[in-house]
Amino acid sequence: MEKPERLIDENGRRVDGRRFDELRPIKMEIGILDKSDGSAYVEFGGTKVIAAVFGPREAHPRHLALPDRAILNCRYHMTSFSVEERKPLGMTRREVELSKVIREALETVTFLEEFPRASIDVYIEVIQADGGTRTTGLTAASLALADAGIPMADLVAAVAVGKVDGQLVLDLCDVEDKYGEADMPVAMAPRFNSIVLLQLNGRMTPEEFRKGLALAQKGVSEIYRLQREALKKKFSSVPPMES
Ligand code: UDP
Repeated sequence: MEKPERLIDENGRRVDGRRFDELRPIKMEIGILDKSDGSAYVEFGGTKVIAAVFGPREAHPRHLALPDRAILNCRYHMTSFSVEERKPLGMTRREVELSKVIREALETVTFLEEFPRASIDVYIEVIQADGGTRTTGLTAASLALADAGIPMADLVAAVAVGKVDGQLVLDLCDVEDKYGEADMPVAMAPRFNSIVLLQLNGRMTPEEFRKGLALAQKGVSEIYRLQREALKKKFSSVPPMES
């Protein structure tokens, strides 16, 4: 998409009509796949992501198994139809890097030491990309881990904040990400108020950074509420007993 003349109009509205502190419409659903042990679908506006989890299961190849904890494998991947411009097949450098930072964020909340010699495999497939795919991927992956029954200290809820036309905004879409001045993805374990991933692309003053972080925290607490709601929706109803 071409650069719009302005990213914020005279009424303070963004390219998609949102105010600076508004999230995009969010959808979350758990247990959407049958073949994996846990799964989730998460949508933030035009960004649509599926996460699937296998495990804990015996680590393969065996020589990679760790005697005192499970290995967490994580693959973030964008499908070739997720973006307008043809995305190369296979894993790009960006996808390898994002797989690593997502894994590191998930490792901080997962009780891996409960499963020595095992592996837990997390697959994140971006089926449509419109900004914030790593944060949506992380949000979906932690739901899929919970769906698989993997013990965790907390869920991970994530959102990006950024600066567009000199103003801080929550949950950037692709155009804001591309043509804005800064993009800062933030992931948190909200129960501990702890940051498990923070990246910054672009420039912010220390004051903007502080305000941006507070804005991200506000978004994270709403995302966390929706995550718990989605989990309750699946697990609070008991299936009817078979006669
Ligand atoms: N994007 C794209 N092609 C690519 C990678 C990214 O069109 O190969 C777009 C996509 O919409 C993505 C956005 O650029 O969401 C921002 O990408 P970034 O690397 O900042 O990661 P994200 O914000 O998705 O976590």
